[in-house]
Amino acid sequence: MRLSRYFLPVLKETPAEAQIVSHRLMLRAGMIKQQSAGIYSWLPLGYKVLRNIERIVHEEQIRAGHIPMLMPTLQSADLWKKSGRYDAYGPEMLRIRDRHDRDMLYGPTNEEMITEIVANYVTSYKALPLTLYHIQWKFRDEVRPRFGVMRGREFLMKDGYNFDVSKEEALHAYNRHLVSYLRTYERMGLQAIPMRADSGPIGGDDTHEFLVLADTGESEVFYDSEVTDLTFGDREIDYDDKAACQAVMDEFTGRYARTDETHDEALFNEIPEERKRVARGIEVGQIFYFGTKYSESFGAMVQNEAGERVPLHMGSHGIGVSRLLGAIIEASHDDNGIIWPEGVTPFHCGIVNLKQGDAEADAACEGLYAALEAEGLEPLYDDRNERAGGKFATMDLIGLPWRITVGPRGLKNGVVELTSRKTGESEEMSPEAAVARVAEIYAPHRSVNAGI
Ligand code: ATP
Ligand code: MG
Repeated sequence: MRLSRYFLPVLKETPAEAQIVSHRLMLRAGMIKQQSAGIYSWLPLGYKVLRNIERIVHEEQIRAGHIPMLMPTLQSADLWKKSGRYDAYGPEMLRIRDRHDRDMLYGPTNEEMITEIVANYVTSYKALPLTLYHIQWKFRDEVRPRFGVMRGREFLMKDGYNFDVSKEEALHAYNRHLVSYLRTYERMGLQAIPMRADSGPIGGDDTHEFLVLADTGESEVFYDSEVTDLTFGDREIDYDDKAACQAVMDEFTGRYARTDETHDEALFNEIPEERKRVARGIEVGQIFYFGTKYSESFGAMVQNEAGERVPLHMGSHGIGVSRLLGAIIEASHDDNGIIWPEGVTPFHCGIVNLKQGDAEADAACEGLYAALEAEGLEPLYDDRNERAGGKFATMDLIGLPWRITVGPRGLKNGVVELTSRKTGESEEMSPEAAVARVAEIYAPHRSVNAGI
């Protein structure tokens, strides 16, 4: 993309309404525009990051054997009356009446709808295990929408639902989700710690929330500092292997890590003093096992191997796709702007032309642009007739992890400059070497499957 032809409405001033850094930077970098309280338009740069996050979520869900689909945003109230949640959900639910006076609602989540679908089609254990998911807009009429996309009213969520013949199988699905979530967040450059949580209005027994530590987080969390040493990394795992998934669950949830609702002071005090931590966290996901609660309301039953009709064991599993943009920025920024992790960056590499209009500099930039594209990368070329300082400030603000700077002086010696946004370190090299280096950096961040 050439910046002269893009739509990147960056703001010079710090917007007064934004209380936290991620919200300020998303507004300043021209990523989002508020349309009404808690409802945003995704401007081109923000939309690109949103799509990248969504793609990683899809890839890791599909890798775990979960199946993508799409359910509507508007739901019939009848579904929710069946489960008893139409009344229980309260004022957070946006209720709508259509022209025929039928009660509808904008879905805050989809347990009812998916259970009704599965109850319609699945009759035998042979169709199981089954995990269906979608990435769809949700609406919750939050009392206090704030912090930009972190607590919106309309927000994008991945929600997945597992259907299993027994509790044991459903707990395997729970563990599988935990593993897939660890991988998902790590690919986005985030450490999200699974913590024992409270199940709230969904109801149920087992639940863990995934929290990104940040001072601006809305949750108070308690943990053993050893949990922050854990990473999943690039280990191989067979998602069908129950023992292997259980081992990861035990490893990542075996130490004390809890949200305030489940905090137990006596247990916490057993941790050696120097390892006790009380901090704030941003909830970026949650997994639940809740047994047969919804399958019983909707008659989602199957015949098991013994020929008995049994209700399906279920769980639901959510990732806050749009909230993740805020969480990533909270975890990765400096005074000059955003620092995107390579996995989610809107463009792979910036190209800054220090002397637009200089024949040699222009040609070198065009050459870099074509070479990066030939490597399957997406560069953002600042080809505007602006001062170098302004170009650098824009690149720093929008946070591309790598920048190639091209100027007549360097070109005399056959070099350009490759700069890391994170460390600020620059290195001179030939344009070919810069392209090769950038391609090598992104090699581990390529798409892993295309089965969406
Ligand atoms: P919270 O406690 O933050 O209100 P929740 O526990 O009600 O969230 P879930 O039902 O678990 O949310 O939804 C799954 C994920 O969707 C959450 O982990 C969070 O990342 C995201 N999410 C929930 N509410 C919002 C919101 N208002 N704006 C943006 N993302 C949200
Ligand atoms: Mg939650």
